[in-house]
Amino acid sequence: MSDFYITLVSEKLNSTDSKKAAIKIIEFLTQQEIIEKKVTDCVLGFSYGYLPGRNYQEILKNTEFDLTKLKVNGVEFITEKKVFDSGRNELEHVICSGCKENNIENNWSDSLNNWILGTESNKLKCQNCGIINPITQYEFTPTWAFGNFGITFWNWSEFKPSFISELEKRIGGKLKIIYGKI
Ligand SMILES: [Zn+2]
Repeated sequence: MSDFYITLVSEKLNSTDSKKAAIKIIEFLTQQEIIEKKVTDCVLGFSYGYLPGRNYQEILKNTEFDLTKLKVNGVEFITEKKVFDSGRNELEHVICSGCKENNIENNWSDSLNNWILGTESNKLKCQNCGIINPITQYEFTPTWAFGNFGITFWNWSEFKPSFISELEKRIGGKLKIIYGKI
């Protein structure tokens, strides 16, 4: 069976502010009992995550959604520079902000690697209009995001918009929503 994830990403926070934001959000979510305080191996990969707390359904559109029988159901905080991609939800468009041309056949992956490495050549020249923009300003669909801060919810279902706005208020900026599949 596939595992699904939803990651909420801030593209604005730098590395230091990401760590501060994570502490703040963990505190908020544990207080609300959306997540438990204890970390376990309830996420995929090498990291650790927080188990759903007893009020986890309150933030979901489908308040009957049952996470408790799943092995992978944790919440993971990422506070380092990362390309937040959609996994096996395959990429369809890499859209130029100028002319809206799809640059999926263009060499966007090298530019993204350079963005990760922090080198100057993180830009991509649109194959249609020739505008040169940082790769992170292209619009990826399914949505991808590029930043230092992400919260990944493993196998949770769609959130109430009020939950997203609450987090945005606490973090102080927009969150992008990534839907992924492993
Ligand atoms: Zn263009």
